[in-house]
Amino acid sequence: MQIPLTDLAAQYAGIKDEIDEAVRRVISSGSFILGPEVEAFEQEMAAYCGTSHAVGVASGTDALQLALLACGVGPGDEVITTPFTFIATTEAIVNCGATPVFVDIEPETLNLDPSLVEQHVTQRTKALLPVHLYGHPCDMTRIMETARRHGLKVIEDCAQALGATWMGQRVGSFGDAGCLSFFPGKVLGAYGDGGMVVTNDADVAERLRILRNHGGRVKYYHEVNGFNSRLDALQAAVLRVKLGHLDGWLERRRDIAAAYADGLANIEDITTPIVVDGAVHAFNYYTIRVAGGAQRRDALAAHLKSHGIASAVYYPLALHLQVVYRQLGYSPGGFPCAEQAQEAVLSLPIYPEMTALAIDATVDSIRAMVPDST
Ligand SMILES: *Cc1c(COP(=O)(O)O)cnc(C)c1O
Repeated sequence: MQIPLTDLAAQYAGIKDEIDEAVRRVISSGSFILGPEVEAFEQEMAAYCGTSHAVGVASGTDALQLALLACGVGPGDEVITTPFTFIATTEAIVNCGATPVFVDIEPETLNLDPSLVEQHVTQRTKALLPVHLYGHPCDMTRIMETARRHGLKVIEDCAQALGATWMGQRVGSFGDAGCLSFFPGKVLGAYGDGGMVVTNDADVAERLRILRNHGGRVKYYHEVNGFNSRLDALQAAVLRVKLGHLDGWLERRRDIAAAYADGLANIEDITTPIVVDGAVHAFNYYTIRVAGGAQRRDALAAHLKSHGIASAVYYPLALHLQVVYRQLGYSPGGFPCAEQAQEAVLSLPIYPEMTALAIDATVDSIRAMVPDST
């Protein structure tokens, strides 16, 4: 049995008629960049996220960069974020001319530790950039409290967490801007790149609309230096179809996570992901932790692979240890929880179309290698 990390072909098979109709509709319309399809999707996404505005852009990475710019982040500013995330989070900060300032993560959720943020706030701190890693929401109550106390902007990286909630409220709707990715492997994936910023701030939304379209509101009249970073109509049409299925898919992801938690309970040296009180997880990834170091984790991945089961390590090297950030002056030992996580994490197959048979096969394969402690 071959079990992929995610199965986009199976997903398409289930929604083929709707998708094909939507794609034909856009091609027949002759309107491909922004336009009515993107506007309709923006309204639907704002409603879904519980924000008053949504602005479609070319990728999740662009969503982060444009959101930071729209919130006034620029050269000389510091942005506090997690070292345990995808590089796009900090690329966006650096591309604005600002400096990422890392703060260690919580050992359980692997998200930015809100209790450590305050001690890193300086005169230069402009914004906090929490990442809802794997789909588990950050403690936005504490992050917003810290931000308010120090007058900081908050930009949420929701690339892995569309649909997740904290205290009943959707991620992306807490801070000044929430950034979404429609990369194909994300919970809501396009057939190509795409991204979006959701916000309750009309001024931020207006600046984003200008920034994404060459710095102007009216064609050939430019107010600021902008970008070509627009969501295209074909992707928007595809995403509108998929949005109609999203809640069902998220429910299925949670069911699979529950089945994994059952199947992998009481295995010595395996920790299944927790969901803290007040959080609803989106389970973009189902990430276990394997004790005993990277070699042991990698041996389990190799064992799974030999049984046809895919897995992935998000992420094998925390950002403060990356070559690209050498000049920031961090060193090994700087963030013990992030460094422990990079040695331990292993993400297992999870996708709405995953069968009970495939879940069982994955659990059995793990149990065959790691002895039960009970
Ligand atoms: C995927 C991802 C991004 C970037 O999204 P793209 O659409 O691929 O540009 C940013 N942050 C995190 C945490 C991600 O997982």
